[in-house]
Amino acid sequence: MKKRLFLLDIDGTICRGNALIPGAGAFLQAVRRSGGKFVFITNNATRGTADYIRFFRTLGVETTPDNYLTAAYATIRYLKEHYAGQHIYALATDSFIRECRQNGLNITTDASDKAITCVLVSYDNALNYEKIKDVCLLLTTRQLDYIATNPDLVCPVDFGYLPDCGAICNMIETATHRKPKFLGKPEPAMVQYALQNTGCTPAEALVVGDRLYTDIACGLRAGVDTALVLSGEATEADAAASADKPTWIFPSVAELRQAFLPDPTVHGARVSAAVPAARACV
Ligand SMILES: [Mg+2]
Repeated sequence: MKKRLFLLDIDGTICRGNALIPGAGAFLQAVRRSGGKFVFITNNATRGTADYIRFFRTLGVETTPDNYLTAAYATIRYLKEHYAGQHIYALATDSFIRECRQNGLNITTDASDKAITCVLVSYDNALNYEKIKDVCLLLTTRQLDYIATNPDLVCPVDFGYLPDCGAICNMIETATHRKPKFLGKPEPAMVQYALQNTGCTPAEALVVGDRLYTDIACGLRAGVDTALVLSGEATEADAAASADKPTWIFPSVAELRQAFLPDPTVHGARVSAAVPAARACV
């Protein structure tokens, strides 16, 4: 086996809508059988880890919490490392605020709290103008750090798309000229945390996704090889035109199984000349 840790995007990479992409289930099984590990790294804040475990069970894929690393997890970990004991104003769902508090973070939703040192923004399905006003007030009148979970403009739902955290941040930026530090893809934090959690080296890992500017860019920033799959958003022409060049391109995850697990018979088109041949896995 040439790669031990597969860091997988979900939408467009493993699933399309509420169905597995053909070959995805067999790929996940083959990773496990080979003694490897897969971790879903997702910016999607509309589902928690427990929701994902239930969702994948309905598709016949058994997973445990250590198979997931979400932008919410990365944000909580970052806040614990940098803002322990400090007052953090949060614009987020009740469930995310609860999760932050369970992790020991001092979260407030009271903008008049003079001890606030940081503003946190996330996807919020109960967003209202009062919350937007509070964030604008805090970011305009005080020198506060500004953190957000993920830069995605939209998140997929059953009928199409809804505004995601990035769109909320854009609205705030229009009024305050403040940009947050994002923790989700394409920032490398999620990949770095996954490497730390599993004890794998960057050379043993592969980031797999269907989007160039989040998935592939994230792997590049973390110094990890990347595989673009053409089962979702990006096309081969997009990859050729993008500055975020994947190490390999495959039609789907079905071909990854043959390329990176024992007895490879199918090879991806290598597109990154910058990667030394010594690191080649196919
Ligand atoms: Mg995707």
